[in-house]
Amino acid sequence: MPPLNLHELTHEQLRVQLVRWGFSSVHTKVLWNQLYLGLAASFAEMTGIPARLQRHLEAHATIGVPPTVRETASRDGFTHKYLLGLTDGREVETVLMRYSGRVTACVSSQVGCAMGCVFCATGQMGFTRHLTAGEIVSQAVHVARALRDSGARNPDSASPKLDPTRDPDAQAMPPPASPTSHAIRDMLGKAPEATAESKCHLLDDIPPVAAPAKRQLLDDIPAEPVGGRLRNVVLMGMGEPLHNYDEVLRAVDIMRHPAGLSLGHEQITLSTVGVVPGILRLAAEKRPVHLAVSLHAATQAGRVALVPVAKKWPLDELIAACRTYSTATGRRIFYEWTLIEGQNDSEADARAVGHLLKGLPAQVNLIPLNPTSGYAGAPSRSEAAKRFQRILRDEFKLPSTVRQRRGIDIAAGCGQLAVVG
Ligand code: SF4
Repeated sequence: MPPLNLHELTHEQLRVQLVRWGFSSVHTKVLWNQLYLGLAASFAEMTGIPARLQRHLEAHATIGVPPTVRETASRDGFTHKYLLGLTDGREVETVLMRYSGRVTACVSSQVGCAMGCVFCATGQMGFTRHLTAGEIVSQAVHVARALRDSGARNPDSASPKLDPTRDPDAQAMPPPASPTSHAIRDMLGKAPEATAESKCHLLDDIPPVAAPAKRQLLDDIPAEPVGGRLRNVVLMGMGEPLHNYDEVLRAVDIMRHPAGLSLGHEQITLSTVGVVPGILRLAAEKRPVHLAVSLHAATQAGRVALVPVAKKWPLDELIAACRTYSTATGRRIFYEWTLIEGQNDSEADARAVGHLLKGLPAQVNLIPLNPTSGYAGAPSRSEAAKRFQRILRDEFKLPSTVRQRRGIDIAAGCGQLAVVG
């Protein structure tokens, strides 16, 4: 029997496994702590467990330590991408993103993806296999270890220092305008929940309608070390999480456990392109995660052109499922909209979104298209994004953000993750 990767087990499953091996369940707590607080990479470095148990674990178990095949860092230093090796020789990409006051891991749920979104590098590579819960958890632990180790090597370099002359976001800022992002949020009606990270690194909301002053944007970028603790996990890397429901949700349970990584329901975001059965199951089970739904078009024909899987789960069924989810959970959904010049960024498109989401607890996250080799579309211009957002706000009272583009220079942005070869 192959050794058991302990990252595959929930806290309760670990307790049962210890008993099955003939050990007392009292060791569960310390073992769990070593895995998720100590971030142990080997049993030899664990303290506080009996030598007999340690020997047994060495012989019959493993800890998920995916080898780093390649690590790349963005020029601004805020984004790191890891190509991680899996035990069967496959590989996945995981991204570490630093924001003001928090660090986020963008983890993959599959090797490749079966959904085939035309603008997405993962979709372009096709589907290979689902990841196990342990392989998903191990990515988050990998990022947590990277944070710990970078802080240990040089406490002052736990987060890059801000150099506005090098930061693409700062250079791209429009001239100062009056209201702060918080004021705008208040104007629009405060969101029922804390801001969640939306697919691929958006999460730092920049309201382009009333653009933040440069100073405000700079505040959004860490000028000081933000500490070494992983604060958020977004299941927005390679793969469609709801196509791999059971393993993804078991990984969520492991990452949420309060004696370990201890991620709260507002710290885990799961993104789907519209797998209706999965959304309905999340609603029925009231799973404690943020949900982001990638919409990209507000008509069935428009969606099918960008998201082929919309043929299977049409737009009206998707919106009905979203309504069910919000009603059952009381949660707002983040609707993702990749802005493609000339394709879905017109005033008519904005109004179509507004009508589609009318009455739903919603926030729209606008994501200027990131380049991939397999799709010729171009990102919308910032004026188009502002116009889009203005219509959502003024005509439909819909809050929205435009996602900061992070890690584009290392192909770590939304829709850019892929394993080549
Ligand atoms: S956008 Fe998401 S669901 Fe669509 S192909 Fe890419 S990884 Fe899959």
